Amino acid sequence: MATEKSAVFIIFGGSGDLAHRKLYPALYNLYKTGDLKEHFAVIGTARRPWSDDYYRGTVVDSLKDIDDDEKAMEEFSKHFFYQSHDVTDSDHYIALKKLASKLDDQFQTGHNRVYYMAIAPRFFGTVAEHINSEGLKTDGFNRLVIEKPFGRSFDSACELNSSLTKTFSESEIYRMDHYLGKFMVQQLTRIRLKNRTFEKSLNNKYVSNVQVTLAESLGVEDRGGYYETAGVLRDMVQNHIMQIIGAVAMDEPAKLDSESIHEVKRDVFASLKDLKPEEVDKNFVRGQYGEDDTGSLKAYRDEDNVDPKSNIETFVAGKMMLDNDRWSGVPFYVRSGKRMPAKSSRIDIVYNDAVKELGINPNTTVTFLIEPENGNSILVNGVDYQEGNQDFLKFPEDPKYFSQEREAYENLMIDILDGNKIHFTLWDELQNAWKYVDVIRQQWDNETPDFPNYMSNTMGPDAASELLEKDGNSWIWDD
Ligand code: NAD
Repeated sequence: MATEKSAVFIIFGGSGDLAHRKLYPALYNLYKTGDLKEHFAVIGTARRPWSDDYYRGTVVDSLKDIDDDEKAMEEFSKHFFYQSHDVTDSDHYIALKKLASKLDDQFQTGHNRVYYMAIAPRFFGTVAEHINSEGLKTDGFNRLVIEKPFGRSFDSACELNSSLTKTFSESEIYRMDHYLGKFMVQQLTRIRLKNRTFEKSLNNKYVSNVQVTLAESLGVEDRGGYYETAGVLRDMVQNHIMQIIGAVAMDEPAKLDSESIHEVKRDVFASLKDLKPEEVDKNFVRGQYGEDDTGSLKAYRDEDNVDPKSNIETFVAGKMMLDNDRWSGVPFYVRSGKRMPAKSSRIDIVYNDAVKELGINPNTTVTFLIEPENGNSILVNGVDYQEGNQDFLKFPEDPKYFSQEREAYENLMIDILDGNKIHFTLWDELQNAWKYVDVIRQQWDNETPDFPNYMSNTMGPDAASELLEKDGNSWIWDD
């Protein structure tokens, strides 16, 4: 049984893509499960002069693909209010404050507030500062949710963080990494705690290498402008890939609570083996997609809002090492790219021979399929773990274990309302991730790549395979 939660959500960027594709469907599903019921309201803000009714119509439209219960959608949308808003205009925050406090009374939300930054990153600091100067914070909880990207480098992340912390303490800041809301990433931690053999196997005695792949089949679509400022290194490696490595490599937490988990995760990021500028080219490969072999898919440089001479990477593969007792000597191979042959997010854990002493067949590979497969998605040597002939991963007994799955944004929304920071990125973790990625970025910015260097619908440049071959390894997920 769901416990009802209460808050006024203020969604900055309430007319945008993220709000409509992810946030409203997530809130609606929580409404249907009873996690949100009577005591909540949502204020959407954006520049356009919309009425509440018009806004509610857009909210209902965003739900059409997930439900046909018109009555429930209608009732749900009555909790939504619109406030036209320019992020730099102080008067608008005063109006917002009045509306929020009226809704506090109307819906009895306990003065709890979730401030959600679904706007361009350049506005994050300005909005937070106005929340402070116009006195929007209340005596209930006040939680600030920040979407990616959190800065473009270590220095800019520090700048952003210091502007946010003038208004919100670290404990009030929820840095979204939606991969941490994904079902199989969350299961990985739970399974580690439940399955002693699996937990015992995760170290340099038994693991030959770990591979994290976040592959997309699409190109940049209509986000060329954004992508030109980011590239896959900033867009995927600095945040999602680092956080997944944290979940695989962390020591066993004392408990399944936020403090214990972040304590062991923090150690992982602190033990990232320093990368020197002269080591970048040996350990990291970058790529940019060209056309496909039929010429029907555009090259990146021909996409809308992309510089025809752009040197932005759409593919990265790399080898990262951890300098700690548990993982020293084990390569963590990471890879992410656009226009790869399929969408696939996965973690492959490749064992060595010694693992037989744990009752696991030598050279076994265990794969966590994060997406697109959902639910029952663990493979042992490429076969569903329940159908294989090895017992060590026959867990858990309850076949329904994998069926209680929520979408990433729903999981994370519940965590925000519960004040649970397990699945959010903390500031010290983020700093170490940026410091590592900055070395690569700076080195790449000093060299001119020979782009495009892979065709659309392929596994990226050949150098990505050679990176592993040099070590006598190969990618488990290959076309
Ligand atoms: P979007 O362009 O679709 O929406 C931006 C919103 O900001 C709109 O509601 C717009 O009206 C509002 N806005 C713009 N200028 C404003 C101003 N001066 N004052 C007040 N409001 C203003 O963007 P999006 O794709 O929804 O992305 C929002 C944020 O979420 C960005 O930080 C983005 O990086 C992040 N994000 C988006 C996605 C996604 O899937 N769309 C995924 C991850 C992170």
